[in-house]
Amino acid sequence: MPLSDDLRDLYQQVILDHSRNPRNHGEIPPPCLHAHGDNPSCGDEIDVWLRLSEDGQNIDDLKFTGQGCAISQASASMMTQKIKGKSQAKAAAMREDFRRLVMGDGTPTDEDSLGELVLLEGVQKFPQRVKCAMLAWRALEQALESGRV
Ligand code: ZN
Repeated sequence: MPLSDDLRDLYQQVILDHSRNPRNHGEIPPPCLHAHGDNPSCGDEIDVWLRLSEDGQNIDDLKFTGQGCAISQASASMMTQKIKGKSQAKAAAMREDFRRLVMGDGTPTDEDSLGELVLLEGVQKFPQRVKCAMLAWRALEQALESGRV
């Protein structure tokens, strides 16, 4: 489905804004969970830092640093905005919905909760860009897994 001109403009504005002015950018000092992800085919790198609530259920803080293409950095920035403060269960559900959206693999169960992230839907036609869009989310998953010992 081709993007309308309005949607393409919005897409470019939002992606450029997040890649130039990333939200929740930086590191979280220890103790925290951390994972590094890289996407050699594009040269993108993302580090994700997060801190869980004392009961381990909630992602109380979430930050990232990285470098690479606008899609990888914008996806990371938007992800931190949407996931910070959510429960681990909600984060996992949103990750799966985002994966379905960008891979064109099924219908998200709660597309509304993804907010601006739905603007990345167009990458599903470009497998190389799907890796860019998913990079931060893979790192988030790795960071959460590192806490499950
Ligand atoms: Zn990339």
